[in-house]
Amino acid sequence: MTSEDDVEVRPVQPYQAVKAYVCPGCNQEIGVGVGHVVVVPLHAPDLRRHWHRPCWDHRQRRRPGR
Ligand SMILES: [Zn+2]
Repeated sequence: MTSEDDVEVRPVQPYQAVKAYVCPGCNQEIGVGVGHVVVVPLHAPDLRRHWHRPCWDHRQRRRPGR
């Protein structure tokens, strides 16, 4: 059973980070070679986002409403 909030969090090791991304948590760039996490919504795998690890952890703790 899945809900819209269900996500899979996949760690990305520094050697796997071959592209730069913008972290939605802080709007700062995640540079090439920086370990981070990919967050994949189970109901919409195409909408995966790359986050800094601390930014994702912070978001999880505060659970802001929309
Ligand atoms: Zn960030």
